Amino acid sequence: MPNENIVGRVSIVAPLYNEEDVIEPLYEKLREAMDALGRPVEAILVNDGSIDATAERLDQIADRDDRFTIIHLRRNFGQTAALAAGFDQARGEVIVAMDADLQNDPADIPAMLQKLEEGYDVVSGWRRRRKDPWLTRKLPSSIANWIISKVTGVPLHDYGCSLKAYRAEVLRDVKLHGDMHRFIPALAHWAGGRITEMEVTHHPRRYGKTKYSLTRILRVVFDLATVKFLLSYATRPLQVFGLWGLVAGGLGFLLALYLTVQKLIFGAHLSDRPALLLAVLLILMGFQLVTMGLIAELQARTYYEAQNKPPYTIRYVKYKAGRIREAFPGD
Ligand code: UDP
Ligand code: MG
Repeated sequence: MPNENIVGRVSIVAPLYNEEDVIEPLYEKLREAMDALGRPVEAILVNDGSIDATAERLDQIADRDDRFTIIHLRRNFGQTAALAAGFDQARGEVIVAMDADLQNDPADIPAMLQKLEEGYDVVSGWRRRRKDPWLTRKLPSSIANWIISKVTGVPLHDYGCSLKAYRAEVLRDVKLHGDMHRFIPALAHWAGGRITEMEVTHHPRRYGKTKYSLTRILRVVFDLATVKFLLSYATRPLQVFGLWGLVAGGLGFLLALYLTVQKLIFGAHLSDRPALLLAVLLILMGFQLVTMGLIAELQARTYYEAQNKPPYTIRYVKYKAGRIREAFPGD
């Protein structure tokens, strides 16, 4: 199916929060890359509630170049939400996400599109020579990448790299919440997408300042827990809660049985036995976990049915050229 893979129209999406100084150089870089692309291309710049001159400067770009669309969010919603807003407006068959601060280099885009044409659905950038501080950025990031790779089962060197290229239909199956843009490759893999990574250039931040501090680590940890749950258990929560419920309840039951035998047959006193408390605790926990699993099952059903979300994703449907797909043979 090689012709399915040809990359047609490309949408470049970048979020901006208080990036007034980068807008001119960003425009120059983007224009250069877009002119060199040799395919129809649009740029969607999302102003994530900036309170500096970002808004006006972006609007000037839109006046100057009709390939640029600017989306102004009403307040600062965060990088993930801003990206999602851009994805929703993008009309290309391929969407390239990047940071606006020019730490990513638009010159890498053609090579990423090439990878997509080889048959991948997601190409994730890898900032192998990353130009960020070691202690506060590179070290936590390499630990995070290792953990995320293990937990999601999708090994990537650099989840945090914003420069990524997607087939648009893959993004349609992925809903973004929290700080989850970094997990898109894992979510896309779960939806059946083919994922690869590619080394990309990285520059030090020359304009403006970073918008994040070390507290980001905590948010990433919580998001990872959510992603893991969504990936592995969201469709069958009882199997997880139920299992631990049975383990706890079973242990509690055995312990209680042992104590009962001691009491009834050997006349032991149970009033000063912590094990009795433990047995009661375990049995209660078992009940709690099983009922929690059942409630989660109900929730999961509402969740999927309310969105009409099928439990599968289709790559493509093949039928003879010229046939009307809806027509039943013989009708
Ligand atoms: N950003 C955003 N909303 C926010 C925070 C950041 O749109 O609330 C944008 C920011 O303008 C930049 C990108 O997200 O284009 C990445 O942010 P930053 O460069 O500060 O992150 P770092 O590269 O330091 O991880
Ligand atoms: Mg940056």
